[in-house]
Amino acid sequence: MISLRNIEKYYSSGFSRAYVLRHINLEVQEGEFISIMGPSGSGKSTLLNIIGLLEQPSDGEYYFLDKPVHKIKDSEKSELHKNFIGFVFQSYHLIDELTVYENIETPLLYKNMKSSERKSLVADILDRFQIVGKKDLFPHQLSGGQQQLVGIARAVVASPKLILADEPTGNLNSRQGEEIMELFKRLNQEGTTIIQVTHSEKNATYGTRILNLLDGRIEQNG
Ligand code: ATP
Ligand code: MG
Repeated sequence: MISLRNIEKYYSSGFSRAYVLRHINLEVQEGEFISIMGPSGSGKSTLLNIIGLLEQPSDGEYYFLDKPVHKIKDSEKSELHKNFIGFVFQSYHLIDELTVYENIETPLLYKNMKSSERKSLVADILDRFQIVGKKDLFPHQLSGGQQQLVGIARAVVASPKLILADEPTGNLNSRQGEEIMELFKRLNQEGTTIIQVTHSEKNATYGTRILNLLDGRIEQNG
């Protein structure tokens, strides 16, 4: 599903390059559940953003669903992202002008779906995440944890083939965090491929493979 070949990411400042990712080689098969760990600043979000077609690598080749991402147009990347990926952002990235309900509904608007079907999917998720009472509020009226839940709800509502989650439980209490991990586990058992970034050893063990990033390199596969 995912093939990263010698991916490099750097930022240029003057004549020098600040490397964020170095020689990243990674193959992910459909149905895997991968956890990425590593210290702050090691490049985890950058790697996830590249996999999610949100950031460009500086060098290397990336194939997503056999498409050469490094060669295709931005518009095609955006289509691939919308059709196949549910992304949970580290800093939520909810749309300020939309209500909770409308934020969660967004990915469904790209699907060819009747409005009654959309309504029932959003209602199910609001119910499961116990945020029905918040559905007409705007993001700034929510706590950090509630915003994070809405971000996760939006990422899973359209049943994407691939879920990419950047610290999805960082702002949740331990019970909520465990519920999200159990949800991911079930989705994965049903066939969804999942890649999560986490600082939590316990959450990492939900993955069937753990990758450690250190200074932009994958240190070990275990
Ligand atoms: P955290 O655990 O704190 O979320 P992370 O592992 O996700 O950290 P990244 O956000 O991927 O780390 O950042 C990796 C490095 O890339 C950092 O040193 C950061 O300063 C650098 N970086 C990210 N974006 C830019 C940018 N636009 N310009 C320059 N450097 C950047
Ligand atoms: Mg990060």
